[in-house]
Amino acid sequence: CGIVGYIGPRHVKDVVVGGLRKLEYRGYDSAGIATLGNDQISVVKSVGRLANLEDKLVSESIEGQIGIGHTRWATHGRPSDENAHPHQDCQGQFAIVHNGIIENYVQIREELMQKGHTFKSETDTEVIVHLIEDMYDGNFEATIVAASKRIRGAYALVVLAKNHPDRLIAVRKSSPLIVGLGEGENFVASDIPAILEYTRDVYVLDDGEMAVVRRDSVDCYPLNEKTDPAHLVPVQKDV
Ligand code: GLU
Repeated sequence: CGIVGYIGPRHVKDVVVGGLRKLEYRGYDSAGIATLGNDQISVVKSVGRLANLEDKLVSESIEGQIGIGHTRWATHGRPSDENAHPHQDCQGQFAIVHNGIIENYVQIREELMQKGHTFKSETDTEVIVHLIEDMYDGNFEATIVAASKRIRGAYALVVLAKNHPDRLIAVRKSSPLIVGLGEGENFVASDIPAILEYTRDVYVLDDGEMAVVRRDSVDCYPLNEKTDPAHLVPVQKDV
């Protein structure tokens, strides 16, 4: 699939949809976008090619200074509006886009349903966002680390959180993900062409790495068995 994330002063919709267009070769089962503005996450998604999403976006305005988008290559769940990413938790506090496969999603889904979570899609992806909701204790970074430790498989994720409008969190595990560095703006994408129009300054996330992407900074954290969510120390990068 194709993933694009953006934080900065430009029109989020234009950057995200424009970036997805450059990645459309990676999947065209559905497309979707989530933005955060005025303390609210808005999501628009559509089955089929990106053009269908663009048609919807003509009538549904979607604004904000931060956003994520996705073009899907379905692995779990047929191509449909409901199965399109971004996916959200029960309370709409988070939105997530995902590339890859979560191997232990059945078990996690079962567990979360017993705790009262209701699922709207047939995707493996949706368990991640409910898991994040379930584990969230006010610390966005620590929650993403803890959730990453529970999920098995290959994934590239980008997460948007209503309570943390100043950052996107991206995690890479066996699926490609890059960060594009700008002046007062930053980008996340599955592949370089998505952001080449804006910057040539690119950082390729290491496998098993989390990036906390703000307008003016990018902090990277290695994730492994030993990573303690309560004591996260960013690694120095030449970014
Ligand atoms: N496994 C996820 C799904 O089927 C993500 C697929 C993708 O990488 O586009 O929704």
